[in-house]
Parts: sequence; C-alpha cells; structure tokens
Amino acid sequence: MALNSHKIALDVTDEQRVWFSQQCGYARFAYNCALSDYKNDPQHWKELTKRFNIAKRDIDWTRGMDQRAALFGIKNFGDAISRWRKGQNRFPKKKRRRDRQSYSTDPSSVSIKGKRIRLPKIGWVGMFEKLRFKGELIKVTISRTAHRWFVSITIDTGKPKAPRDTRGLPVVGIDVGINSLATLDKGKQYPNPRPLKRYERKLKREQRKMSRKVFLSNNWYKQKRIVERIHYRIACIRLDAQHKATTEIVNMASAIGIETLKVTNLLKNKKLAKALSDSALGGFLAKLKSKAEVLGIPIVEAPHFYASSKTCSSCGHKKKELSLSERQYHCSSCGVSIDRDQNAAINLKNLAVGHTER
Ligand SMILES: [Zn+2]
Repeated sequence: MALNSHKIALDVTDEQRVWFSQQCGYARFAYNCALSDYKNDPQHWKELTKRFNIAKRDIDWTRGMDQRAALFGIKNFGDAISRWRKGQNRFPKKKRRRDRQSYSTDPSSVSIKGKRIRLPKIGWVGMFEKLRFKGELIKVTISRTAHRWFVSITIDTGKPKAPRDTRGLPVVGIDVGINSLATLDKGKQYPNPRPLKRYERKLKREQRKMSRKVFLSNNWYKQKRIVERIHYRIACIRLDAQHKATTEIVNMASAIGIETLKVTNLLKNKKLAKALSDSALGGFLAKLKSKAEVLGIPIVEAPHFYASSKTCSSCGHKKKELSLSERQYHCSSCGVSIDRDQNAAINLKNLAVGHTER
C-alpha cells in the first residue's frame, strides 16, 4: 500500500456552495450529538452510530442530507475518543459553526473524470486541477478555507515508488533564513516573499472591523470571511514559494545538508519572531523532508549546536561572535570573504558529504 493525497480547489456553483455548507453542518451536528450521547452513556460508545441512526428518524431536515457526512462525523468523534483513552489528546470539544468546515463522504460512491468529481447526492462538481494520482480512492473530504472549497483525496497507488537514481547529482547544503528563504552552497538564493509584511495593514484594518461587529452575528461572519481571505492569500504566497524552492532543490540533489532549526526557541526572540513566522521556515523544512523522502534522498541534519554560520567554510576557523547584521563573512584566519548564508550552506554541505561517505 502506498498512500498519496491531493487537495484540489473546487469550481463550485452557488447551489453547490450551499450544499457543501449544509453537509458540513450535518457532519458537525452528528459529531456533537455523539459527544453529548457519549457524555450521557460513556459505556456504550461503540454504539454511537447505531443510536444516532435511530434518533435522526425524528429529525426531518436530516433526510435530504448525505448520510455519510454524519457517519464520518461520528467516526471522527469515535477516533477522537479512542485517542483520548490512550492519552494521546484532550477530551474532544463541541464543534462550532466558526470552526473549520469539513465533511467526508464514502469514497466508493465517488467517481472522478478529468477535471470533474461526482459526489453523492449533489452530482458532478468541477475541479481546478486533474487528480495527480491513479489508484483506489481511500478517503474523500470536502472542506472550506476562506471563500474557497476544496476536496482532499487520499489514493492508494499500489506499490511505493522506487528511489530515484541520483548518480552524478551533487550533495547540496542549504541555509534557511529570513533574508532569503534558502541559500544553497553554490550561492543560489530563493527569495523570501514575506507576505505578512505586505498585507499587515490591510489585515489589521479588517480585523478591527470584525472586532466592532456583534460577536457571532451575520455581519460578524461576513467580516470573518474577509479576514480569512487575507490569511488565505498570505498562506498561498508562502506555500507557493516553499513548494517551488523545495521541488527544485530535491530534483537536483543526491543528498541534502540542513541545520536543525529550533524554530520554537528562535520565536522567543520577539524581534525575530514576526519575521521568522512570516517566512515560515518550519513549513519549508517539512516540505523539503517529505519530498526528499518520497524520492529516497537522504537529509543530513547538523547537530544541535553546530555553528554553521560562525565557522569558516574554507579553513574551519570558528568565530566567537557574529552579529545578525553582518551579511558578509570575513575570516580573520585565512582572509576569505564570502556571503554569510552561502558560507553556512557550504558548511552544511560538507557535513552532509562526510556523513554520506561514511
Ligand atoms: Zn577561514
């Protein structure tokens, strides 16, 4: 079994939009019913679905809905309960209209043709992209982010991909940072889009408007959508830069050297925190790792206290101090002068080369 998932934006009509909202509401309703049912009678939690199916007979509006939305809602609750019993998460909370909107449906009654997907009851819905994988559908979830609806499809593609032949490709060292998203040992830099900086004022303005509306009123929800849309824009710009850079890097490397970023520690520095979370280094490294893993490319992480920035990449001399404002690395021992980030990237590359040779 090899599971892959693909999230695709949907091209929806107004009618479909309303339908999706209703199904999310239905899934949430079933989840919350199961929650209160569980609280009344925690002993028989394996029978939550059965009891819901009996109870819903008296609720007229549930009849036209996609019943699988409710089933998966209850299943999600059951999963949350079994994780809670194992001590893996907190006791599940009631879901509210303002939380994330999503529902799952039965994959065996879903079919896909080109840029269209057929969902139970609502029928054909347009997609902005074709499904990237072929195989058996395992899970189909519809969700909303800001103004846009998405379908996440998990597919079993059968056999795992064979590792790619990387002979002849170099080991690549990467320094991640704020000024540029990534600097490679050969000197190539991927610029950092920093979208929050661009949208900060607009976001603040719309958030202020939201805070002046009556909490949970219709106008509040309308304004919330506007705020979500800005967040969504910001996230898209970040994701796009991260995906482009990581794909390009994994395609040209036989092994990759990176530093272990303690992002949480860095975030404690208030001055750096905003810039850092805006560049979303964590997301960059996570994508890099997962893409490298799929292709079978080893990633070598430098030890925690390895001074990749302070060490000279040409003679190994280590500086005691290097302030963040020094963009150029000047070595007092061998006299080399090199871009600070590139110097760090070369050190990380050398570390990775040593590691893979062993
Ligand atoms: Zn030196």
